[in-house]
Amino acid sequence: MTAILGYAQTLLTVKLSEEDREEALNYIVEQCKRLERMSKKMTRLLELGQSNDLEIKKEKVIDLFENAVKSCDGIIKDKEISVRVIEHGETYMMDIDLMTNVLINLIDNGIKASQNKAEIILEANENTIKVTDFGKGIPKEEQKKILEPFYMVDKSRSRKNGGAGLGLALVSAILQKHNVKIFIQSEEGKGSTFILEFPK
Ligand code: ADP
Repeated sequence: MTAILGYAQTLLTVKLSEEDREEALNYIVEQCKRLERMSKKMTRLLELGQSNDLEIKKEKVIDLFENAVKSCDGIIKDKEISVRVIEHGETYMMDIDLMTNVLINLIDNGIKASQNKAEIILEANENTIKVTDFGKGIPKEEQKKILEPFYMVDKSRSRKNGGAGLGLALVSAILQKHNVKIFIQSEEGKGSTFILEFPK
């Protein structure tokens, strides 16, 4: 908010060149989009805390994977990521809209941690779903904390990537509603796997 206000006030009070004016406006648009994403996530978190009307049904994991990959299409193309899907016709009990949200957050985080042209693996097996990236990894001491609201490992980098440390808090809240456990396996410089364990 402070940044938006600052840039808007400059636009109102200082005579800027066309180029600087455009840059300031672009900055305002980007920051507004970030605030919008953040407030959507916060609203969702609050709603989840109160509601019990999840639509939990037997759903095909392949549909879940396809929904999530489609939603991440922009960042997948931008970074020329290849997504490998491994599944064997599994079906799990879930609210597919909410679980798609979980997968989108995990894939998005994995891609942000990865170099261009890297691979992301989505895998279903028995009662688990795994999302694996080969990116920068998460330091051991941070692995528990990243599920907390507003926690970011590298604050400046995460801001640049448009995050606010709310993605995984939302993931945790949705998983709790499903009685799904989450485990993180990660090694710095090698990558991370987020494992979702559904009830048997
Ligand atoms: P944001 O909404 O800012 O992305 P998240 O709650 O999704 O926040 O993630 C919290 C922090 O955890 C991020 O700032 C990031 O540093 C770290 N993180 C999450 N997933 C990964 C990953 N796959 N690889 C490396 N770091 C990750």
